[in-house]
Amino acid sequence: MIRALLIGLALALPAGAAPSTAAASRVRIDYVVPRAAAMQEIYRDMKGRRVLEGLRDILSVVRLPRPLTLRLSECGSEANAWYAPETRSVTVCYEYIQDMHARAPQETSPTGVTRHEAIVGPIAQVFLHETGHALFHLLDVPVLGREEDAADQFAALVLLRLRASQARPIIDGSAFLMGSYAREETADREALADDHGLVQQRLYNLLCLAYGSDRRAFRYLVERGDLPEERARGCAAEHDQAAFALDRLFRRHLQGGRIARDRVRRGFRWAYR
Ligand SMILES: [Zn+2]
Repeated sequence: MIRALLIGLALALPAGAAPSTAAASRVRIDYVVPRAAAMQEIYRDMKGRRVLEGLRDILSVVRLPRPLTLRLSECGSEANAWYAPETRSVTVCYEYIQDMHARAPQETSPTGVTRHEAIVGPIAQVFLHETGHALFHLLDVPVLGREEDAADQFAALVLLRLRASQARPIIDGSAFLMGSYAREETADREALADDHGLVQQRLYNLLCLAYGSDRRAFRYLVERGDLPEERARGCAAEHDQAAFALDRLFRRHLQGGRIARDRVRRGFRWAYR
C-alpha cells in the first residue's frame, strides 16, 4: 500500500536498462529488468502492453520544464510507488503489481469486477497519482489541502476524461483494490496521523468524483450502496469544483489547454486488451 512518499529510494534502485526516450517528449520511460524470477512475467506483461508508452503519450501535451521519468522496477520487499523529486522520477514497483495480482479475483468479483480490471485499474490509478505529485513539483502548481488528496483527484479526473463506459472498468478496478486494502485497515493513531487519508476515505472520494462526473453512468455506485446517498448528493458539485481547479491550474501548462479525451483513450489502450 502506498503509505508514504518514499523520497530518495529511487537512487537505490538497480541500474537496469537505460531509459528509452521519445524524441518529441520530455517524458522518459524505463522498464527495469527484474532479477527475481517471480517478477519476470509482470515485467514482460507491462512491456508487452506498452503501459509506459501509453502514459507517456497522455503526458506528451504537458510542457515540462525538465524531463520526467516513468519507471517500473523491482524494489525488494516493498509493494509501493512514489515520486522522487531529486531524480524527477515516478517509480511503480513490480511488487506492487504482484500484490494487485494476488488480491484480484480469480475470475470476477461479486460486484462484477473482472480479474483484468482489478489489475489494470489500479496500475492506471497509481501511475496517475504519482504523476500528479510529479507535475505539482515540476510545474510548480500550488496545492491547497493535502497533497495526497490532490494527487488522488488529479488521477481520478484524468481517468474521468475517458467516456464513462471506458472509465468504468478502470474506476471499478481501482475501487476493488482500495476496498481490499480498506478491509485490512485500522483507523489507529498511525493511520489517522498519516499524510494520506484512510483508504476507505480515499475510496469514497474516488467513487464520489466518478458519480459526480456522470450520475447516470455511475448510478450503480449509489444503487448498490458503495457510495452513501448522503455523500452522493454533493458529488456533482465536488466533481465540478475539482475539475475547475485542475483546469485553472494546468491549462497554461498543456498544449491546446487540455488533455484531449482521444489522447487519454489512446494512452489507456493497454488497459483494454
Ligand atoms: Zn501520493
